[in-house]
Amino acid sequence: MRIVSLAGGIGGARFLRGLKAAAPDSEITVIGNTGDDITLFGLRVCPDLDTVMYTLGGGINEEQGWGRAGETFTVKEELAAYGMEPQWFGLGDRDFATHIIRSQMLAAGYPLSQVTEALCDRWRPGVRLLPMSDDRTETHVVVSDEAGRRAIHFQEWWVRLRASVPAEQIVLVGADEARPAPGVLDAIAAADVVILPPSNPVVSIGTILQIPGIRAALEDKTVVGVSPIIGGAPVRGMADACLTAIGVETSAQAVLELYGSALLDGWLVAEEDKGVALDGVVVEARPLLMSNPEATRDIAAAALTLARSLKS
Ligand code: GDP
Ligand code: CA
Repeated sequence: MRIVSLAGGIGGARFLRGLKAAAPDSEITVIGNTGDDITLFGLRVCPDLDTVMYTLGGGINEEQGWGRAGETFTVKEELAAYGMEPQWFGLGDRDFATHIIRSQMLAAGYPLSQVTEALCDRWRPGVRLLPMSDDRTETHVVVSDEAGRRAIHFQEWWVRLRASVPAEQIVLVGADEARPAPGVLDAIAAADVVILPPSNPVVSIGTILQIPGIRAALEDKTVVGVSPIIGGAPVRGMADACLTAIGVETSAQAVLELYGSALLDGWLVAEEDKGVALDGVVVEARPLLMSNPEATRDIAAAALTLARSLKS
């Protein structure tokens, strides 16, 4: 079976580990979010691609969910000793190596998709990991504070401010001119089923869907999504702040309506969200907490079973 999955960072990566376990003989292509990408100290950092790569490749810091296992922070401390900003983004020594190689390859003219493939040569994530686009797009957040009304990089809002300042707007800069990375539309066209993991519906999945051509290609396929919202709240993280910014309630029902019936054929919700419904979408309620690898595998298996049953 050929499976395509979209993915953000931690939530997406953990789900993908379950998906691999649920479908060991399938060919899985992951379309990763690059709206969170940021240039720091002259280095191009792709947090979501790296989280997927490290998680599936066995290099992730399991407790934290991002960054490398066994990490040290000597470079970060040395930069801070020089007073170098920003100091709010945690880059470890091991992680730095990834960003150095990526930046060097990008500077040599390789597109991000080829850089990602080269990095995955080491990590062997067991999926084909594609960035949503080789073109640079960045999620920016419009906020108002003492400094006035301004747009800041998503990471500054998410990591430095912990989304404590309300987002007035969330914009994917460069979206209109961006093209899907090579292989993305072909993988979607060849897919038997498409699965949307419980990644952030605004700044992860929503970002990928904004790359011209991707949503339309997905609408032709059998797509099943897993709700990231359980009982009116995100399971972890601050997805509620992102949903509020785009005027969407934090509920499994509202995220279902946000994705819509043109995109989704099936929607998995948690048992406490039984009753969620939308014309044209088959909704199933089941346990949705990715509390351990087995529970996560069972969620992914349920998504696949639903998708197969809906495939016309
Ligand atoms: P990303 O969007 O994939 O980068 O992942 P995040 O780690 O930011 O999490 C995205 C979403 O996943 C959040 O809205 C969480 O509510 C949701 N999430 C995290 N853990 C779980 C879980 O165990 N079950 C479900 N259903 N959603 C989860
Ligand atoms: Ca993310």
